[in-house]
Amino acid sequence: MKSLRRVLGGVAMTATIAALSVSLAAPARAADERPPTPDSVNRVIPHAPYPVSARARALHATIPVADLHADPLLWNRDLLIRNNIGHIDIPRLEEGGFALQDFSVVSKSPRSANYVKTDASDGDVMADRARREHWPRKTWNSVLQRALYGADKLKGIEKRSHGRLRIVRTKGDLRRSLHDHVIAGILLSEGAHPLEGKLSNIKVMYDGGFRVLGLQHFFDNELGGSLHGESHGGLTPFGKAVIPRAEKQGLIIDVAHSSEAVVFDTVAIAKRPIIVSHTGIKGYCDTPRNVSDAALKAVADHGGLIGVGYWDAAVCEPTMKNVTEAIVYAVKLLGAEHVALGSDFDGGVAMPFDASEMAGLTSSLLDAGLDEKTVKMVMGENAIRFFSTYLPSK
Ligand SMILES: [Zn+2]
Repeated sequence: MKSLRRVLGGVAMTATIAALSVSLAAPARAADERPPTPDSVNRVIPHAPYPVSARARALHATIPVADLHADPLLWNRDLLIRNNIGHIDIPRLEEGGFALQDFSVVSKSPRSANYVKTDASDGDVMADRARREHWPRKTWNSVLQRALYGADKLKGIEKRSHGRLRIVRTKGDLRRSLHDHVIAGILLSEGAHPLEGKLSNIKVMYDGGFRVLGLQHFFDNELGGSLHGESHGGLTPFGKAVIPRAEKQGLIIDVAHSSEAVVFDTVAIAKRPIIVSHTGIKGYCDTPRNVSDAALKAVADHGGLIGVGYWDAAVCEPTMKNVTEAIVYAVKLLGAEHVALGSDFDGGVAMPFDASEMAGLTSSLLDAGLDEKTVKMVMGENAIRFFSTYLPSK
C-alpha cells in the first residue's frame, strides 16, 4: 500500500517522465483485488459515524441498493456472520439495504501485479493459492477451473444462507429476489482469461453461473490489452470473436481493467450496452488506475453503466467526501442514468465505510445537491434496471 501511494503521489504531483520511470523501476503493488494478503488489508478507515439526515434515512429506506463489484470471494472468512474485518458479509449487506451485489471471481494474478505495467508471465498468486489452500487438484493448472471453483464458493454461501442470498441468472430470478427482499448475487469474472483461448468455454462459464464477463484484469490476455498491461493494445481477433458470442450467450461485458483501446474497440462492436464495474474517473482523480472521461463517455453513450469505486486509486483519498464528489462528477459527465456504485469492497483496499453504512452515502449525496431521483438511480435503480433488461430471459 505504501508503494502504491508513492506512485500515485508521484504521478499526481509531477506527472513527469522521471516520476513515471521511478514507478516503473519499482512497480507499485496494486491492491485492487490482488491476493493473497491478510484479510486485514480490507480495512475500514476509522471514522466517526457518518451523519444521516431524516430525509436521507426516509429516502434510503426506499432504495434497492445495488453494487457492480465486490471481492469477498477472494477471502476465507464466513460471509454468513457479521465480521469485524473486511467490508462485506450478508448481515452488513442487509443492514446497508442491498438488493443486488455483483460478486467478482479472480482466477489469475501475476505476482508483481501493479497499476502501471504488469508482466503477465510473472507467476500467478491464484495458482499458488490453489495449491497452498488445497483447492481441488483440477484448479491448480487451469484458470477456467479456478473461475468455476470461485463460482461454486458463492453457490455454497447461497445454500447456507437459507434464502438470504440468491444467485440470479435470469430476469425472472432478479424479479423474484426483488419481490422477496432477498439479496440478488450476480457472478462476475475478473477477466476473460478463464476462456483459455476457446470460444466454447463461453458456454462453460455461463453454465457455471457467470453473467458478467470482464475482458481483462491486471495483465494483457488472449482477448487484448489491460489498462495495467504491457501492450495497451486493442481487442485481438480472439477478443473480437468473443464479444458477439458472449452477448449471444447472455453474458454482460465488463471493461473494468481493460486498456482504453479495448474499451473503444468493444463499444464499436458490442450490440448491447457494456459496463465498467469498478473504476474512478481521470477527470476527477488522475491515477494510473482510472479511465479517461472520453472512454467512460463512450461506454455511457452506448447505453452502458459505470460503477464508481471508493478506494484510494479510484478517488485519490478514500473519504466519504471524495466518493461523493466522484459520483457527482460522474453524474455531470455521463448523465445520471449511466452512473452506479462499483465499490470494490473487499478488493484488498482500505475503505471509508463498509456495506452497512450506505445510508451515510445517500445522505452525503443529498447534501452535495443531487436530487432524490438521481440519488435513487445511482444508489441502485440504474443497476437494477440494467440487469432487469440485459440478464437472459431464461
Ligand atoms: Zn478490479
